[in-house]
Amino acid sequence: MADFSLSQEHQMVQKMVREFAQKEVAPVIKECDRQQQMAEFVLPRMGELGILGICLPVKYGGQGMDYIALGLACEELEVVDTSLRVVMSVHVGLNSMALFQWATEEQKHRFLTPQAQGKKIACFGLTEPGAGSDVSAIISTARLDGSEYVLNGEKMWISLATKAHHCLWVGRTNRADDPHENLSAFLVELNYPGVTTGDIHGKLGVRAGSTGWIAFQDVRVPVANRIGEDGEGFKIAMSCLDNGRYTVASGATGLIRASLEASIRYAKERRAFGREIARMQLVQQKIAKMVQSYEMARLLYLRAGWMKNQGLRNTRETSLAKWFATDASFEAANEAVQIHGAYGYSDEYDVERYLRNSKGAVIYEGTSEIHQLMQAGYALGYRADAPLRCELPAYDPTFWSV
Ligand SMILES: Cc1cc2nc3c(=O)[nH]c(=O)nc-3n(C[C@H](O)[C@H](O)[C@H](O)COP(=O)(O)OP(=O)(O)OC[C@H]3O[C@@H](n4cnc5c(N)ncnc54)[C@H](O)[C@@H]3O)c2cc1C
Repeated sequence: MADFSLSQEHQMVQKMVREFAQKEVAPVIKECDRQQQMAEFVLPRMGELGILGICLPVKYGGQGMDYIALGLACEELEVVDTSLRVVMSVHVGLNSMALFQWATEEQKHRFLTPQAQGKKIACFGLTEPGAGSDVSAIISTARLDGSEYVLNGEKMWISLATKAHHCLWVGRTNRADDPHENLSAFLVELNYPGVTTGDIHGKLGVRAGSTGWIAFQDVRVPVANRIGEDGEGFKIAMSCLDNGRYTVASGATGLIRASLEASIRYAKERRAFGREIARMQLVQQKIAKMVQSYEMARLLYLRAGWMKNQGLRNTRETSLAKWFATDASFEAANEAVQIHGAYGYSDEYDVERYLRNSKGAVIYEGTSEIHQLMQAGYALGYRADAPLRCELPAYDPTFWSV
């Protein structure tokens, strides 16, 4: 029986992350967004506070908390800015959790431990200029040459591309004809010769975050850096998304909360036709919808987190949580701008940033259209999840804390 009450430890995580985001980041976030730059202190400070290894066992440099704690942290971070939660999505969800799930013990000690400790920053390289939703269109290649693979290709729209030390990279090893079967995953250190990176400027949102490209030209990567078996890259990438989408869902829940709180504050301050606009029923309708969205999004991500804790496969539930929360956060931010009227249209208030930031999440980690196809596929019986060779381990407080 699922129990969604928060333990004392969960509440401590919420408080710690909330204080970091509200006291340290909130005062500078507007300027970072204007300058289109991530504040220098953000990544080291998140590492120092243990946020970057929150749900990983102490044995691998983590904090020994469960997957619900990860969701709560993402919610608190995104109340202040989406760029903070994106760090969690790529560093923790798409990379570190995949290493925890799929890497060998030796690889965990070499790559996961410094990532969980925040000493190394990690990103995830799946998307290419010609391959987004359709992963089978990936054309990057990894050719085996003795004890090394030689990597070529370009990855596009990669969060933290210019900040990361490690990239979980997916490309073709030409093992088989099936476009899904011949993908493999590698942990590539971004200081290897042949790697170049750059930032993408002029983004609609997540401007206080880092998004870029990574080019690989004859990059020699030891076989020992291959994660999983040759040909297992597609399965690994999809399992990464199960974890990344969970962080997006919980983060977007925080963005709904931020829109709701800002709307309540403003609606009680602003007067029109002789009374607070909060008294107008059409404004109340928007507030009521945000309350409904927040509660539903929260329950959906808590259920997915609970399933992860139990070691239950949660691709369907996580997809539903991500789809619902991101669509709802876009709608909530849009209505928050509407409630703020013209003031919501300028960066004097935070809600315009919420609206710009909310759009990305309905595109990355599966567009809303892809999630609808997934949900319809499950409902119609056209889609089912086969067991994986390595499932994400169920949360075990004893194993996690030693
Ligand atoms: C801010 C940001 C950060 C990102 N970070 C990362 C990252 O760290 N790592 C990474 O690998 N990628 C990252 N991405 C890329 C992201 O995952 C892709 O943008 C996403 O998968 C969609 O791919 P696409 O942009 O190529 O769109 P396309 O796949 O070309 O889709 C274009 C449109 O067609 C629709 N469409 C496509 N196929 C179908 C279909 N079968 N049925 C109905 N509609 C369909 C889509 O829903 C969309 O509306 C990031 C993107 C953004 C915006």
